[in-house]
Amino acid sequence: MFYFDWTYLLIIPGMLLGLWAQAQVKSAYGKYSRIPTRLGQPAASVVADLLRRNGNNKVRIGRVSGELTDHYNPGNETLNLSDGVFGSASIAALGIAAHEAGHAMQKHENYAPLMLRTTIVPAVNICSSLSTPLFFLGLLMSWEPLLTIGIVLFAASTVFALITLPVEFNASSRAVSMLVEGGYVSGEEEAGVRKVLRAAALTYVASAVTSLLSLLRLVMIANRRRD
Ligand SMILES: [Zn+2]
Repeated sequence: MFYFDWTYLLIIPGMLLGLWAQAQVKSAYGKYSRIPTRLGQPAASVVADLLRRNGNNKVRIGRVSGELTDHYNPGNETLNLSDGVFGSASIAALGIAAHEAGHAMQKHENYAPLMLRTTIVPAVNICSSLSTPLFFLGLLMSWEPLLTIGIVLFAASTVFALITLPVEFNASSRAVSMLVEGGYVSGEEEAGVRKVLRAAALTYVASAVTSLLSLLRLVMIANRRRD
């Protein structure tokens, strides 16, 4: 449901930050996916090494189609690398693959923010799909309890976006340490890995900011109705 009024302008900074973050990812990935590491070991093989070296033998490494579709599934402990990453020995591929290995290590060590995020995912999905329709239904019916319910449900997805931040930043810092400690990257390569991962983290920051601003917008619309 689309509802336009001046409060919509509130969300624009978040959207701009999101576009900027995506451009950063594109440029960092574009640059570092073309620069191979001196070691020349493909990302899938590096990830297997990293997990083994860190005592994690449970993870199944697979391949997934698409660009930058790499992800780790804590449910079945599967780590999927995208076509452009799996067999690539580029700086970007190693950074992305090691980031996913970072998530696998979070699960291995029961890292609390990851555990919390995984636990609340189903509830958050329901909350976020109901929040906006209920809020605008409340607006149409001028029924305040429904506005409040919509806001509370939306707040759940904002909390999720915020919990995602430590999970992502931590996975990236684990990625850099594992790659450096194992001698897979050095010097300029490490700087390249950091740039790629920083750009990716920025997209999560943009999502969290957009979510906070959207929440603020709903609160403002509801408050105006009460006057
Ligand atoms: Zn991640």
